[in-house]
Amino acid sequence: MKEHLIKPGKKIDLRKIDPGDCGKWAGRKEEAKKLLEGLSSKLERLQEVMYAEHKQRLLIVLQAMDAGGKDGTIRSVFDGVNPQGVRVVNFKTPTTTELDRDYLWRIHSQVPARGEIVIFNRSHYEDVLVVRVHELVPEEVWKKRYRQIVNFEKMLVDEGTTILKFFLHIDKEEQKQRFLDRLNDPDKQWKFNPNDVDERRYWDNYMQAFETLLEKTSTNFAPWYVVPSNRNWYRNLVVTNTIVEQLKKLNMKYPELEGNIEDFKQAVQSS
Ligand code: AMP
Ligand code: MG
Repeated sequence: MKEHLIKPGKKIDLRKIDPGDCGKWAGRKEEAKKLLEGLSSKLERLQEVMYAEHKQRLLIVLQAMDAGGKDGTIRSVFDGVNPQGVRVVNFKTPTTTELDRDYLWRIHSQVPARGEIVIFNRSHYEDVLVVRVHELVPEEVWKKRYRQIVNFEKMLVDEGTTILKFFLHIDKEEQKQRFLDRLNDPDKQWKFNPNDVDERRYWDNYMQAFETLLEKTSTNFAPWYVVPSNRNWYRNLVVTNTIVEQLKKLNMKYPELEGNIEDFKQAVQSS
């Protein structure tokens, strides 16, 4: 699934990346689901060690268009993971307190601590997405942010954070279907936001903004993955697999108990 990794500096044309792609898993959904079950158990165990070791930090960034599957990914991929040591942060329209400060202020305050996995549901990338598309700040301001973001992420990585960034890629037709599904399901209607329909007019502008950020901010130390996300099961497989592979590389270990185990056992027995 390495094919979804965006190599630094690569020119991106999102129209050439099929959101319905399932790679070698096309037509093998049931097999893929079995594999995913195994990967999910691996993720659970890796997160346990990570929490116990209290050394590594993992930051996962999720970006997508509305109904792109950010919430669903978080629910599915981290289902079963011990909630201790995992935290989700949603970034909404900035408050006045946040707008009075630089755009990275609210982001930096939420990065993972040692032993923690933090999932950003939207992120500092909104500051070169919605902000760019709707000209919420002048171009000369948002243009500088790509470099600032790369520098910020480099600092986090140098200080010991691992960063994985996922763009959940759906197409405009799939989004329409998902909005309709929301409206047709009383339990999902709350998710529908009439403004999201207006935003569809800006689809191409968003795609352009995504292409620029993928080109400018996918680095060796904090890579972007473009995940074909029309199929939830394939999306979950790619995201889970990528996280598991990354965590395995960290060679984490349970801390060793200092002292003599037999002595401790005896002490417990005779207590
Ligand atoms: P939702 O994720 O559907 O709850 O919506 C959150 C909304 O907040 C989206 O419309 C985002 O575009 C918006 N948002 C998030 N970050 C920013 C930001 N930095 N500037 C402006 N709008 C933002
Ligand atoms: Mg929304």
